[in-house]
Amino acid sequence: MSLRILYGGTFDPVHAGHLAVARAARDTFGVPVHLLPAADPPHRGAPGASARDRADLLALALAGEPGLAVDERELHRPGPSWTVDTLRELRAEAGPETPLAWLLGADAFRGLPSWHEWPALAGLAHFIVAVRPGHETENLPAALEAACTGRWADSPLALAAAPAGRLFRLRLPPHPASATELRRRLAAGEATGDWLAPAVADEIARRGLYRAG
Ligand code: ATP
Repeated sequence: MSLRILYGGTFDPVHAGHLAVARAARDTFGVPVHLLPAADPPHRGAPGASARDRADLLALALAGEPGLAVDERELHRPGPSWTVDTLRELRAEAGPETPLAWLLGADAFRGLPSWHEWPALAGLAHFIVAVRPGHETENLPAALEAACTGRWADSPLALAAAPAGRLFRLRLPPHPASATELRRRLAAGEATGDWLAPAVADEIARRGLYRAG
């Protein structure tokens, strides 16, 4: 059964760094990547745009992009978008044998021990950890290091060979884009360079999103 890759995030808004990570995972593993915008992000304050707006911008960014698709399941679930709940839902759908992998950046990975029910996650999916400038995938916090020992895979094939529990470092040219910095620039009326797809930049302007005050 082929690997299913899930890429969750706030995507507030989706930017070139997110797309670089999603494309690298698609191309490395040779399977589609499903992007899941969070409804109610548990680890941060209220997003700068509604879940509906963020999901629409994501769909615009992915239009015409082979092998990348939006999965809106977290928008249809009330309450916080805990990843453990999303993975349980996906596991129930896919059955016990299908390999599932959660894709995330190195910064998010380092914070894993703060996630809801984090010890359950490795039993549900693999983790694909994308490099991100300024965030190491080595020298992990002690609790995470202990949980990761012996789980790192050298080959993408290792993830297709088991349903869950392995870790893979996804190497790609580090991309400096940050949603926090983008929102600051948008609010300040500054140029966003090539961090936003043109269709996304146009729609943000049309809907009047991320404006100051
Ligand atoms: P911020 O830039 O404000 O920290 P973010 O883009 O990291 O926001 P999310 O939209 O939740 O916030 O990110 C979704 C996922 O994408 C996270 O796992 C994050 O680590 C990863 N990610 C975001 N930007 C990059 C990047 N430039 N390089 C690698 N991974 C990234």
